[in-house]
Amino acid sequence: MAPQPAATGPAVEQAVLDRVPQGLYIDGSWGPSADGGTFAVVDPSTGETLKRIADATPEDGLRALAAADAARHSWAATPPRVRAEMLRRAFDLLQERREDFALLMTLEMGKPLAEARGEVTYGGEFLRWFSEEAVRIGGSYGTNPEGTGRTIVSHKPVGPAFLITPWNFPLAMATRKIAPALAAGCTVVVKPAELTPLTTLLFVDLLAEAGVPAGVVNVIPTTTAGAVSEPVITDPRLRKLSFTGSTPVGRTLLAQAAQNVLRTSMELGGNAPFLVFADADLDLAVEGALAAKFRNTGQACTAANRFLVHEDVAEDFAARVTARVEAMRVGRGTEDGVAIGPLIDDRAVAKAHRLVTDAVERGAVVRTGGHPGEGTGTFYAPTVLTDVQPGSDILRDEIFGPVLAIRTFRTEDEAVAAANDTEYGLVGYAFTEDPARGQRLMERLETGMLGLNTGIVSNASAPFGGVKQSGLGREGGGEGIGEYLETMYTLTPDPFGR
Ligand code: NAP
Repeated sequence: MAPQPAATGPAVEQAVLDRVPQGLYIDGSWGPSADGGTFAVVDPSTGETLKRIADATPEDGLRALAAADAARHSWAATPPRVRAEMLRRAFDLLQERREDFALLMTLEMGKPLAEARGEVTYGGEFLRWFSEEAVRIGGSYGTNPEGTGRTIVSHKPVGPAFLITPWNFPLAMATRKIAPALAAGCTVVVKPAELTPLTTLLFVDLLAEAGVPAGVVNVIPTTTAGAVSEPVITDPRLRKLSFTGSTPVGRTLLAQAAQNVLRTSMELGGNAPFLVFADADLDLAVEGALAAKFRNTGQACTAANRFLVHEDVAEDFAARVTARVEAMRVGRGTEDGVAIGPLIDDRAVAKAHRLVTDAVERGAVVRTGGHPGEGTGTFYAPTVLTDVQPGSDILRDEIFGPVLAIRTFRTEDEAVAAANDTEYGLVGYAFTEDPARGQRLMERLETGMLGLNTGIVSNASAPFGGVKQSGLGREGGGEGIGEYLETMYTLTPDPFGR
């Protein structure tokens, strides 16, 4: 019998990379950047170049916006069912090519292959969900309280949208924006992260194959994000900015967006508290902790950042998570059984180590890990810290690495106060077997999302997003399409002349 092809390996990797277009995608065609410039995309687990691609200039950005603007009316007039069926076709194509997309994400971003497959499932669900939402953009018709008129409320696509995505979830962050925008009837310009643009390029190629017309989706990877983005954001043809990334960059973009009073959606940083009460099911809490902390090697906006554990169960919890973390295999995401991949770059390793060092200098105890990886690639050992002291930087800054930092509390009030003691408010996690306590936490925690006895909150059908400095607006759920719609009402006199 002929040998089965390996699931991965250099030849399979090269074949996937060869399928990724190298150009910018503007007005339905692939082409070079205005100045012919290119840049290298690197595998963070080896430091080797995967592929060189076109590097968009400010001129390319405005060309992409012009294409989106030219296509806006025809796309808005395309029947919702037709838009829906294109998104559904894209979902089906993605399922057929799920291994290509998973491998590509592992190569350019470093996440373990099993997690990359999970992201294909999660990211794909936005295509399916918004294909279903596209045909349900409703309105209302009502009589005013005086009975003298009728109010007709309708929704229209907001217009050309600029979508800026981060490197940590290369597919899902793109589909979470592109799918609702297209469903609503908006055309888009997409700027993926410089570190992980290949997945977006392959995905946009898939959208074209699914029948999305020229000009509706344009993509402009670049090494000069600020220089390319600002002219697009401040151009009056743009009507919407949707950004996922860090809070400092979000603030800068909000200031730029203010010039033309743009509609904005901001999915920004997090500093998630993870609360474990004395009445928690500890088995569940440990599973939840591992998912909430180590998924994507800790590089998620939803990553649990501060573990607040009741003092009666803290040692038991710490011992159990430490045993599990010690068993985690670190390596290139393509290797079997790897749970922890590389961090995205040297800076990420340096930041994780700085936060660990600061915590230890202030009294924290390293239970396992606590150091960068050895050899090539930007690895950091999965780490558990206990006895983290108030005032440590690790409690304030987003770690974005595989470091689980535990401090203890005595009362629910103390736990809630500590959880809310941050400028961020994206997500929280709480483990308790007391339903009334769970309900109190729902009301008291200042976050946009809460995982109650679960370590994963993301789902295409739920309105993802944060409060405080974690952002504005929601992605997914019933709310997601509303971010790309304007509301208009028309008032008419009473048709009976009363
Ligand atoms: P980042 O540095 O803010 O970058 C995000 C995106 O913005 C990238 O495409 C980046 O391009 C671009 N960018 C940077 N400076 C810009 C500027 N001046 N003008 C226009 N675009 C600019 O964040 P990151 O390091 O990629 O991602 C990690 C952050 O994202 C974390 O804080 C994480 O919590 C947050 N995040 C939030 C969510 C959420 O849903 N709330 C989801 C995922 C991640 P370059 O790549 O070229 O720099």
